[in-house]
Amino acid sequence: MPSRSKRKTKYIFVVGGVLSSVGKGIACASLGLLLKSRGFSVTIQKFDPYINVDPGTMNPLQHGEVYVTDDGAETDLDLGHYERFLDVSMTRFNNATTGQIYFEVIQRERRGYYLGKTVQVIPHITDEIKRRMTYFDGEYDIVIIEIGGTVGDIESQPYLEAARQLTLERGRSSCITILLAYVPYIRSAGELKTKPTQHAAKELMEFGIIPEIILCRTEQRIPKEVRSKIALFCNVDEDAVIEIPDVETIYEVPLVMARRNLDAIVLRKLRLKNGTLELDTWTRFVQRIKNPRMTVEIALVGKYVSYRDSYKSIVEAFVHAGALNNCKVELRWINSEDITRDNVEELLGGVRGVLVAPGFGARGIEGKIIAIEYVRTRQIPFFGICLGMQCAVIEFARNVCGLADANSSEFKRTRHSVIHLLPDQERVENKGGTMRLGAYPCMLLRGSKAHRAYEQELIFERHRHRYELSNTFRPLLEEHGMVMSGVSPDNRLVEIIELKNHPWFVGVQFHPELKSRAVSGHPLFVHFVRAALRSKLGEDAANEMDSAGE
Ligand code: GLN
Repeated sequence: MPSRSKRKTKYIFVVGGVLSSVGKGIACASLGLLLKSRGFSVTIQKFDPYINVDPGTMNPLQHGEVYVTDDGAETDLDLGHYERFLDVSMTRFNNATTGQIYFEVIQRERRGYYLGKTVQVIPHITDEIKRRMTYFDGEYDIVIIEIGGTVGDIESQPYLEAARQLTLERGRSSCITILLAYVPYIRSAGELKTKPTQHAAKELMEFGIIPEIILCRTEQRIPKEVRSKIALFCNVDEDAVIEIPDVETIYEVPLVMARRNLDAIVLRKLRLKNGTLELDTWTRFVQRIKNPRMTVEIALVGKYVSYRDSYKSIVEAFVHAGALNNCKVELRWINSEDITRDNVEELLGGVRGVLVAPGFGARGIEGKIIAIEYVRTRQIPFFGICLGMQCAVIEFARNVCGLADANSSEFKRTRHSVIHLLPDQERVENKGGTMRLGAYPCMLLRGSKAHRAYEQELIFERHRHRYELSNTFRPLLEEHGMVMSGVSPDNRLVEIIELKNHPWFVGVQFHPELKSRAVSGHPLFVHFVRAALRSKLGEDAANEMDSAGE
């Protein structure tokens, strides 16, 4: 448990109305950034209404990537937005699913905790929700609580009830609710429609919750009269109806909110006072994203490219790294299952870098290996993440070290399992809970590309995998020019590989994308993009771009 000071924590509930996917996660992250920039300590929690106990086992094609925290929790990808915007590390206490909440209550019931009472949604489930919602009580000035789903969903009801109770207990100057609604534009009528927003606000009020601020997502500007109408019918202050139009980049949302005074209104409602808003660095960051000096094309090779949220953090890490290099990274999405020896040139020709993505299972592996051979032999910058790094080792073992049947024992057991389970993991039969999860230390080899990027010798990066590079084959791989540039402090685990005689060929066993923050980016992504720019422009021009960005 973190240590508690005597702060009086204020709560902001953010609920969605009308429909989902209008950017509740981004709205929470953006509001969090504004309040943090005002000098408050802020964290964000996400409550997911689904029954899965373990979000880690969910299909990335349905739910997007699994976001892993330092403490090894597998969480919803919105936590990635919170970290990127707030520049604060999340923990397992920042995310909960309905499944986890029921699981906890049921386990307690089985231990006899409820003394034979009837265990019910109210109060037992709602009490457990409140316990989790107040986990950071006293530790932060403000906790923003994102409630997943939309108002009116059966699944979200216990969360709304918990929010109502907390508001009653703490008072309305300590807890406010923000409704994020969608205001559709009906082209044939040439009109913006407020009815869905009105219905969502009414529905919330049926649960005993009065929204104090309504954020209106919209594709069109909302004129003042329409905002006034929403205010009147939904019972909120006029200035508390705030339009959030579509913007070019999600990183612009905090600036849009600030222009409409959202932070000041929130602070007024929570009766909080403080200094002025400082967003200069953020504004510069957004300007760099919006006005790149050039573009550079990088291929993202993976198995889940049909649903881009599966690689959310990687995509965002490229936005950050692009901004820091004054360029825009254009991604060429390539399904690894489509790659063959015959079409690799056609699919990858012209790109300035290739990232081979993380993943599980044998599908698409051979395509990844063909892509890696292509970039290795053509001196195209390469970045392999987790499975991407493992594929790079397999490719090198096969094509450079002469072990034609080299593979990972995840896919096929051969005499040359260059990637394998560690002997102590081999004995574990049940797959759940056997992954290496969360932050681990890694020592960098001085003078390596990794060391040059991080400018540090000891780093901590987040993992999510089972298999590891086999120590048996380390000497052979090294003899042929592979450099083990990052290892665990006891030297048992290889965490980073590089190649000599290649402009930039780096594979990492961990997930650097999870630690790329807006504004500061991640050193490996920044250096990878720089290498891609170099391959496009040549050394001198790239250096010039670099210094222009200082
Ligand atoms: N499937 C591989 C493993 O379990 C890689 C996992 C990943 O890319 N995250 O080791």
